Amino acid sequence: MGSGRADDDVVTDTAVGPDPVRAWVVGDPGPVDTGPLRLVERPLPVPGPRQVRVRVRCCGVCRTDLHLAEGDLPPRRPGVVPGHEVVGVVDSLGPGAARFTIGERIGVAWLGRTDGTCRFCRRGDENLCLAPTFTGWDVDGGYAEACLVDERFAHRLPEHLPDEQAAPLLCAGIIGYRALRLAEVPPGGRLGIYGFGGSAHLTAQVALAQGLRVHVMTRGEHHRRLAADLGVDSVGDAADTPPEPLDGAVLFAPAGELVPVALRALDRGATLAVAGIWLSDIPVLRYGEELFEERRLRSVTANTRQDAEEFLRLADRLGVRATTVAYPMAEAPRALADLAHGRFAGAAVLHT
Ligand SMILES: [Zn+2]
Ligand SMILES: [Zn+2]
Repeated sequence: MGSGRADDDVVTDTAVGPDPVRAWVVGDPGPVDTGPLRLVERPLPVPGPRQVRVRVRCCGVCRTDLHLAEGDLPPRRPGVVPGHEVVGVVDSLGPGAARFTIGERIGVAWLGRTDGTCRFCRRGDENLCLAPTFTGWDVDGGYAEACLVDERFAHRLPEHLPDEQAAPLLCAGIIGYRALRLAEVPPGGRLGIYGFGGSAHLTAQVALAQGLRVHVMTRGEHHRRLAADLGVDSVGDAADTPPEPLDGAVLFAPAGELVPVALRALDRGATLAVAGIWLSDIPVLRYGEELFEERRLRSVTANTRQDAEEFLRLADRLGVRATTVAYPMAEAPRALADLAHGRFAGAAVLHT
């Protein structure tokens, strides 16, 4: 990690061996401007069975990290290291780990592990697993110099893709892709995108490449400019009515008040998919105007490994490019605050 902080700011967690790693942990969850992240030194983690250790090169900043830091998402483990868009190099193999070689670049994503045995895993819906492990929520993630991953849930990355380009694909890209699929827009149809951050700007590129008409509704001038630069068909303010009825929509903004707005913009029989893991309360819905005529409202929950593999291949083939803003790992709190306050367009990426 960079040298942006004085050493006496670093809290040593436990007896730290000769090769400690620095990591950001969620100390006391609270508003991002009160500094909920804390920098600690920890022993270099040792990979267990089927795990590999990854020397982190960079880690994307996802809105989920912000929800975790601010306490919107209940912590599943105190002092967890956030970060689930990790690009790094394998430097140690645990017992039985044979999928990757030392020195290989891999990606670590949100789905850290599933039990493989519950009724959802058995029917191919591992995103709904009853006992899942999420990176940066249940187990330590990539806001650190090193982390562990179960090799069966890690991802190979397109070789020519730079680290900073690859990181945002690992959650923002994959979840957006699943949300787009669940919105079930027919070929050549009209897609609405509500909110235009890291995930939406990748999803819009996939939709445009697939020949959909894309209408973006978002607040924030730089978000609107990025949407226009990507060539979407129209750009409006967050609650504006799109110029034509939508055959499907994805809500990326964590704003429940936009649910009725988006439902009213749907054509008959169309679906609104809510992409986020957290949403503020949805106001009362009026059945006649917002749901009747077979409009559908559905959530998007995590992703399967198949979603991830499909999306990484597709993004490579379509030339999906993330618009990124680089921060040193030492400035993770500033990156999170900038995300909270909408100070950049695209996706933030932390570099060790
Ligand atoms: Zn399961
Ligand atoms: Zn995420």
